[in-house]
Amino acid sequence: MNVLIVYAHPEPRSLNGSLKNFSVKHLEEAGHHVHVSDLYAMNWKVPLDAHDSTAWQADRRFDASLASKQAFETGTQSQDIALEQEKLRWADAVILQFPLWWFSMPAILKGWVERVYAYGFAYGVGEHSDTHWGDRYGEGVMAGKRAMLLVTTGGWESHYSPRGINGQIEDMLFPIQHGILYYPGFDVVPPFVVYRTGRTDETRFSQIQEALGQRLDQLWTAAPIAFRPQNAGAYDIPALTLRSDLAPGDVGFGVHLANE
Ligand code: FAD
Repeated sequence: MNVLIVYAHPEPRSLNGSLKNFSVKHLEEAGHHVHVSDLYAMNWKVPLDAHDSTAWQADRRFDASLASKQAFETGTQSQDIALEQEKLRWADAVILQFPLWWFSMPAILKGWVERVYAYGFAYGVGEHSDTHWGDRYGEGVMAGKRAMLLVTTGGWESHYSPRGINGQIEDMLFPIQHGILYYPGFDVVPPFVVYRTGRTDETRFSQIQEALGQRLDQLWTAAPIAFRPQNAGAYDIPALTLRSDLAPGDVGFGVHLANE
């Protein structure tokens, strides 16, 4: 299998750097092909702007979606974007690896998503009408591929528990797992989260590696998070609200999980 690791940490000698090296070695020893997009090492351009199209005309008003659509359709995307899209097409599984910074991904990784997820590639795909609101949330160009988050936090596990002060980790990661990964079609397996990283010594590091190795071995067999597909009847279209007989009375991120 082909695995793409999109990795966002500025320091190769960090905990994240060690875990990324471990993942590459572990996956390759299991016979997989691995490619790492090391965003800091690549000096990845973060902001989405008019320069993302080689056909950009300075006198035109810049419309981010329209420019992305035209560049994608006409093959005038800047090369760094096209190369990352090619890696995504190649991959059977994608791992986004990052330290939790201000309760989300580092800006460099957000910039990767914004620029690589072009109109026509990751969104704006499929029939878009009052009866079919595009191929998304379970359908799309990434359908059939798997994705997993590998996240490290300074906070303790209890701080991210259901009643923890930071909010539960499932909620924190929902916009990434549901909005960025499930949206274009990935099957998202549960995240691998390393909490309280400040308390990492050699013993704990060995335990983390052991657990991570098991999760990498299960990348193709673990049950994906049971997000509800958009176009399979659970949502009223075009309002795109969950049918009132599903999770009746409940609100929030959790209603988009099919637990029944
Ligand atoms: P490092 O700092 O590199 O290492 C962590 C520990 O692991 C160190 O003790 C180190 O000695 C040890 N270690 C590293 N490599 C090895 C190895 N090979 N073997 C054994 N031990 C090793 N945390 C939150 O919970 N929520 C937030 O919102 C949040 N926001 C942040 C915002 C910013 C801007 C920053 C800088 C930090 C934030 N943090 C937050 C903390 C952050 O998530 C952690 O600092 C980060 O996850 C630690 O990962 P690292 O790779 O940088 O670890």
